[in-house]
Amino acid sequence: MGFPDPQKLMEHARREANAGESFFEFRLDYLPAPEQGVAVIRKFLAAHPECCILATCRRHQNHGKFNGSVEDQIRILDAAFDAGARAVDVEIESAENAIPRLEALRGKGQLMLSYHNYDGTPSPESIVRRMLRIPADGYKIVTTARKPSDNARILAITKSHPRTPLVVLAMGEAGFPTRVLAPAWGGLFTYAAPNASEGTASGQVSARVLRHLYRAEKFTRAAKIYGVIADPVRHSISPAVHNRAFQSHRLDAVYLPFLVQSPQLKDFFALADSLPIAGFSVTIPHKQRILRYLDVVDPLARRIGAVNTVWKKAGKWRGANTDADAVTVPLSRKLRLSKSSVLVVGNGGAARSAAYALVGSGARVSIVGRNPDRVRSLARACGAESLLREQVNGRKFDALVHATPLGMFPHPETCFFSDALPASLVFDMVYNPLETTLLRNAASQGLTVISGLQMFLEQATRQFEIWTGAPAPRAVMEKAAIEALAPAS
Ligand code: NAP
Repeated sequence: MGFPDPQKLMEHARREANAGESFFEFRLDYLPAPEQGVAVIRKFLAAHPECCILATCRRHQNHGKFNGSVEDQIRILDAAFDAGARAVDVEIESAENAIPRLEALRGKGQLMLSYHNYDGTPSPESIVRRMLRIPADGYKIVTTARKPSDNARILAITKSHPRTPLVVLAMGEAGFPTRVLAPAWGGLFTYAAPNASEGTASGQVSARVLRHLYRAEKFTRAAKIYGVIADPVRHSISPAVHNRAFQSHRLDAVYLPFLVQSPQLKDFFALADSLPIAGFSVTIPHKQRILRYLDVVDPLARRIGAVNTVWKKAGKWRGANTDADAVTVPLSRKLRLSKSSVLVVGNGGAARSAAYALVGSGARVSIVGRNPDRVRSLARACGAESLLREQVNGRKFDALVHATPLGMFPHPETCFFSDALPASLVFDMVYNPLETTLLRNAASQGLTVISGLQMFLEQATRQFEIWTGAPAPRAVMEKAAIEALAPAS
């Protein structure tokens, strides 16, 4: 934890200790005078002798905040040991200039030698070779992930150096998987932010999230890895939902958010083939381009031209589209699709899945959107009728399926329709917020509604079943989704 004043440091450390945490990094360099941090260590440990402190006083030349010399840095860390710290972190750049002093320092406690790279992930082997020249009790190697496969490169160090005490991590959102996987992969520990404040590095999440959402201390090295590939991926509720489902079935598995930018799909497969990735969800912007990387694609997904679920079977990557059933199943609970007319609003990936699935179920499908050319081309491809916005006025459909982002957080007030809705049943794919403006209008006009959450759960439960072969714990997943959506809605 790094705070610019000693009271704050003490306050947060006490709060975490009272919540059951027992191992802290104190960033002394974040304080105007690091000596103040030494005093905090002494006072804190007097009240919490069960806790263990790793003291760090990184120099500004090495991306820390301490402005003194290497000698001053070592003197402060020495004082931290005297105050009761169990370990100190010295960055490689300082260590290489203070080798004789390090031996004496190491006599007082554990020395963690650290390497940080804020630009990228260079060859890990050359970093390890450089680090191992200096004797230490632990070696921390932190790089920055620029692409998905950087996660595998950094985690591979634990495999090639099984007897070296290591902490390995890749910073940045793209490196987040390493923060969760490193402990199971043989890392000494991982870094987390205090529960009630910001972390000290990009990509850090709180200890509570690592422990309770990702169960970073529970799954093993043999755990199957699942996840979602997307850009952006940060706000996805899928990790909350699928991890809770794995937990309720006591599966040795974890579900991670993978930030994969448009041109990085191929690189993601390099990662997927080197980690035990067993399956993943696919969302914006990869649902269509993913097809070219798959060995087997389910016929409906092939027809739609979009895949949202991938899994590995007998060494082959397979893809399916669970969005399609997630539209038709909730609708067919309310009406006979083969005898119904349905208006689909939108012409993006989700609208495509809906239109193909509905036509396939025998419904009479009409499509409307903001771009008449794109609407026409989708309608022609799937055998639906295309409508201009004004042609919808005066028509009445049995159901309306809304598949644009209108009404979605952070613009919940927006809505495709301004007055009377042209259907008896309104299905909004948007699930954040849970009750959209469209659904509220529909309910106030006495219409039947189906929420985007029902669709989300339908596609997520089908994914769980494809991946595990077990029935999905729907109620558990629904509760997790509602909890995950609560703060933003
Ligand atoms: P997409 O491929 O990006 O397509 C978005 C569609 O919305 C396009 O047809 C686009 O029209 C249209 N659109 C965007 N902004 C608009 C605006 N201001 N006015 C009118 N139309 C607009 O996205 P998608 O994957 O289809 O997703 C669409 C929505 O469905 C999202 O809100 C997504 O979260 C939701 N969804 C929910 C679930 C679920 O499980 N509940 C599953 C999938 C998707 P243009 O072609 O003219 O740009």
